[in-house]
Amino acid sequence: MNPIRQTIHFDKKLIDKDAQKVVKTLNQVGHEAYLVGGCIRDLLVGQKPKDFDIATSATPEQVHKTFKRSRLIGKRFRLVHIMFSSRKYIEVATFRSGKVKNTRNGAILRDNFYGTLREDAFRRDFSVNGLYYDIEKSQVIDYVDGLEAINSSEIRMIGNPAERFKEDPVRMIRAIRFKVKLDAKIDPKISISITKHAYLLANIPAARLYDECIKLFHNEKSFEVFEQLLKFGLLKYLFRQTKETSFINKTLINTSKRIKNRKTVTPAFLFAVFLWGAQNKRFNELNKKKKSRILTMNQASEDVISKQTEQVLMPRWLSNRVKDIWLMQYQLENCSQKKAKELIAHPRFRMAYDFLVLRSESINPELAERAKYWNQLQH
Ligand code: ATP
Ligand code: MG
Repeated sequence: MNPIRQTIHFDKKLIDKDAQKVVKTLNQVGHEAYLVGGCIRDLLVGQKPKDFDIATSATPEQVHKTFKRSRLIGKRFRLVHIMFSSRKYIEVATFRSGKVKNTRNGAILRDNFYGTLREDAFRRDFSVNGLYYDIEKSQVIDYVDGLEAINSSEIRMIGNPAERFKEDPVRMIRAIRFKVKLDAKIDPKISISITKHAYLLANIPAARLYDECIKLFHNEKSFEVFEQLLKFGLLKYLFRQTKETSFINKTLINTSKRIKNRKTVTPAFLFAVFLWGAQNKRFNELNKKKKSRILTMNQASEDVISKQTEQVLMPRWLSNRVKDIWLMQYQLENCSQKKAKELIAHPRFRMAYDFLVLRSESINPELAERAKYWNQLQH
């Protein structure tokens, strides 16, 4: 079966210069090489790509030899990172065949087989993510009806959703992410399949889900992502202690605004907000034992965080920040004028203050005066 080849002249300024160089160099030494995946999808819908990935017929070793400043990475499947600065690299992957060795429950055991361009297209997750771009000919190469899916704005699975979700349950979360990102519909076959297979997410390592969570919520549409995760019944596999509140909604809308305005965001803040309700609940349970407030507060924080890390990993630096934000709430609510100056100098003051403000604008309107007080004190 021949692919659809559609000539599309993207504005060259939108395509990363270094990625263009990598493709050219690989072509010159006789290998096929294309831009692939998210970057083509984003260019087609008029969004700015985050990064530019390259797929090639060259083996990782051949790529590594061709580029002096490159390194081989990855165990299960080897990739090459070509370095352009200390922070910037272009990722090059060899075409991979979809031949997979499955375990009995369908999870991928090994998919470390090189393949052809066609095979590489079919092992990808969604048709909108399965497009390649031939820079030299200015052509999009489409084996999977990805162009059609982009035009009708629909997330469709490459292959059978049930099988592909069993192979890798994280694709269910990805489906939601791309639906929201592209403001697209989801193929009803995918929706039905998510309902059936959501439980498989319980087996995904907490570290991988941490990476996914960052991608889910650190973007301009985190509020919509949250709503969709709830709607599809997936939120409980990421944050089972979390229930929707006006505080969470307000924070997510705020996070999106910050990202639009290129302000910094930290996952610590989001985790602190998502788990605040659980933290309070636990505090009230423990408080009946009448130990000191600070000990109880600490214990409640520990309990909630350790339950959370069973699902989604929280690196130590992150859980420490979350705890700081929580513990500082009481101080922000109650401390004396004298202590206030000290508190302002605390490295986590700003985060804890922002947290208090968002609480006062949602679940705790009685804190509005206090939020104003801190605002004035800072200026
Ligand atoms: P983003 O803009 O968020 O980076 P992306 O589509 O580039 O989106 P990546 O996670 O960077 O997403 O993956 C790059 C490409 O690799 C995808 O476009 C898709 O073709 C393929 N891919 C990634 N994860 C999977 C997966 N779990 N199963 C199948 N294919 C995948
Ligand atoms: Mg990407």
